[in-house]
Amino acid sequence: MTSSNNPETVALHAAYRADPATGAVAVPIYQTTSYQFESTETACKLFALEELGNIYTRVMNPTTDVLEQRMAALEDGAAALATSSGQAASALAIQNIARSGDNIVSSTDLYGGSWNLFANTLETMGIEVRFVDPADPENFRRATDDKTRAYYAETLPNPKLEVFPIGEVAGIGDDLGIPLIVDNTAAPIICRPIDHGAHIVVYSTTKYIGGHGTSIGGMIIDSGRFDWEKHARRHPLLNQPDPSYHGAVWSEAAKPLGPIAYILKCRVTVMRDLGSAMSPFNAFQFIQGLETLPLRMREHCRNAAAVAEFLSGHPAADKVIHPGQQDGEPRRRADAYMTGGFGGLVGFEIAGGQDAGMRFIDALNMIYHVANIGDARSLAIHPATSTHQQLSAAEQLASGVTPGYVRLSVGIEHIDDIIADIDQALHAAVNPNASAAVAA
Ligand code: PLP
Repeated sequence: MTSSNNPETVALHAAYRADPATGAVAVPIYQTTSYQFESTETACKLFALEELGNIYTRVMNPTTDVLEQRMAALEDGAAALATSSGQAASALAIQNIARSGDNIVSSTDLYGGSWNLFANTLETMGIEVRFVDPADPENFRRATDDKTRAYYAETLPNPKLEVFPIGEVAGIGDDLGIPLIVDNTAAPIICRPIDHGAHIVVYSTTKYIGGHGTSIGGMIIDSGRFDWEKHARRHPLLNQPDPSYHGAVWSEAAKPLGPIAYILKCRVTVMRDLGSAMSPFNAFQFIQGLETLPLRMREHCRNAAAVAEFLSGHPAADKVIHPGQQDGEPRRRADAYMTGGFGGLVGFEIAGGQDAGMRFIDALNMIYHVANIGDARSLAIHPATSTHQQLSAAEQLASGVTPGYVRLSVGIEHIDDIIADIDQALHAAVNPNASAAVAA
């Protein structure tokens, strides 16, 4: 265990010190569904939430618990809940406080999967999502009515890579009694949204937390700082008797356990009922990833900044998209919120448009062509012909995807090798006849 607040130490030591049964230093994988109760009295207390403890792995697990506590400690949150995927984290975070007839207000700058969840699936459940442009934070206030239950945004959304105004929108939420949920998937360690006023943080742990492209998972972190009782009329699900848990009023029931009403309810009702729990094996994988995350994020940031710099001087790159290359308000937000670096993502528009973008991807030797980000390996994709292919040309442009846009998730290989691969692929992409001429 540790009393340190330094992320490098927290990531290795928080919430676990050697297994009491065996002395194992690595967190054991508790691959079990259920737990022997000491007595009927203990079982009774556990189910009544008079004591917190292990009941069934859909709702809690000792391996997953270490990961949850470590991530809560890293984010300065009160408690956390692991989920089976990042998508499950976003969905559950909203379903915990919004029901049919309610709405949430979301930034337009979102991962495509979140966009689909909000625009289509939540809509079929009767939860309306109102999309607003985050360039003006006041758009969130304007879209709010008395049925608004949450604000939602991503810290560092791609492809635009313009940092979200976390403090500004969290402040509007504080005025109106609306919690801000921030997806911090692209910026762990380098941004702590709770420090800037966000009330709930969600992650796809699939990306940088795991870091090795092996496992799908997600996390919801409760800051413990939102005053649900003060805004009782706006948040009936936290303040009125819950028929699914013998009439518990969550803002009251959680008090003896800490400021964890939101995440406690999420665990024992929404997770209990919908069941999208993280497997203990995946929790173990994410613990391994987390242990080196601060170190990896430093390298990701350093390499991505170097790639952006290289591309900004390259004649085959018409435009480079990276927070370090921005100015004006986007740069001010990047400097204000990304206190540990600008992340590992870089976009660029290749000279020659769509055909050149496709040739660039096909010419890469080391960098993988995948629909993923946050791996220790460098990754690339051409969104217009892959992730954003189903959108019309106008929709692609609105989301920041031009025909020649290429997204790079810069890894932690040696920077010379990353740049050499990009350089040769750029050359092949903009001189398609050169290799044919040589061959002839
Ligand atoms: N949020 C962001 C920003 C993402 O990039 C992704 C996946 O790419 C998700 C959420 C969804 O995560 P998962 O694939 O783990 O469900």
